[in-house]
Amino acid sequence: MTRGELFLISAPSGAGKNSLMDALGAHLGHERLAFVVSHTTRPPRAGERDGVDYHFVNDAQFEEMVRADRFLEWARVYDHRYGTAAAEVLPRLAQGIDVVHDLDVQGATRLRLRMPEAHSIFVLPPSYAELRRRLEGRGADEAGARARRLALSLSEIECYRDYEYVIVNSDLQLAAATLAAIIVEKRHRRARMQEVAEAIADDFRTALGGAR
Ligand code: 5GP
Repeated sequence: MTRGELFLISAPSGAGKNSLMDALGAHLGHERLAFVVSHTTRPPRAGERDGVDYHFVNDAQFEEMVRADRFLEWARVYDHRYGTAAAEVLPRLAQGIDVVHDLDVQGATRLRLRMPEAHSIFVLPPSYAELRRRLEGRGADEAGARARRLALSLSEIECYRDYEYVIVNSDLQLAAATLAAIIVEKRHRRARMQEVAEAIADDFRTALGGAR
């Protein structure tokens, strides 16, 4: 079985990464594609569902997972901890499923050290004004937290340099199509197509065997 590949996506808060992830599913279909559901100690926002948006855990549960070495990486982001459980990633890659994971820049750096074959994509908002507008429109955080996210946005944005690909999210559908194109390109590398191509070649060998 050809292994799936891991795609790490980072963006400053408000760059539109969540909508992009949703739109990506629509572009690629969900077959052979999985999204990591991270563990977090952050409380759920209105409308977020446990096991869908995140696995919401308390500090003790998170700590227990750290001690049991069940995370590929974890990081403190803003006031809470977020982690990538190995169980969310490794079995799927082994099953030939591509895994898309949205995580912060520290997490992406750590995960790349552990899995250097992962592909990394940075999503930029088109401008500061647009990022601010999106954060204000969100209403999920109180003004203080929003101001802090904006203040940190420049140092986050400069991290684009550490990523293999950069997408500017001005138009959601275009950005999703671009992300899908990156994933599709990897899927069609010869090494990944080898099994399929050999099965087709076998079909030809069988069909033409008698004629040789
Ligand atoms: P939010 O609380 O807005 O959902 O996410 C805050 C930040 O945590 C985002 O930058 C998001 O990418 C990051 N994040 C989500 N899951 C993970 C994870 O598993 N590991 C790390 N390091 N960061 C994560």
